[in-house]
Amino acid sequence: MIDESCIFCKIVRKQAPSSIIYEDEAVMVFLDIRPLNMGHTLVIPKAHCVDIFDIPQNLLSKVHQIVKQVSLPIKEATDTDGISIIQQNGKAAGQDIFHIHVHVVPRYEGQKLPPFHELKEVERAKLDEMAKKMKLLL
Ligand SMILES: [Zn+2]
Repeated sequence: MIDESCIFCKIVRKQAPSSIIYEDEAVMVFLDIRPLNMGHTLVIPKAHCVDIFDIPQNLLSKVHQIVKQVSLPIKEATDTDGISIIQQNGKAAGQDIFHIHVHVVPRYEGQKLPPFHELKEVERAKLDEMAKKMKLLL
């Protein structure tokens, strides 16, 4: 259930850096390095599942249970007006990393979403600081 070339599998095994907010035996939550807004978070299964067609139903349920659990802390830590939950399946849909992930995106009133490919990397220190703030609210 691990793909050696997958960046999310590397993050799960702590072989790549990430700013982790939550993890249990099945699910991991960390900040997106190229956020739409500061606090943009990813919720993933630890097992390498490609997309919604590939992931077992019970594991998808666990992932979404955690999406529900982290949404309010993310909204409060970022002091935003709303939260978008985005999950893409397949290249045509805009999926960029082929390990299923749910985006939890803090949103401001009146703000339009830029295309994901235009987003810039944020410094690790800033991400760690935001992750710390969110963890306190979990
Ligand atoms: Zn993977």
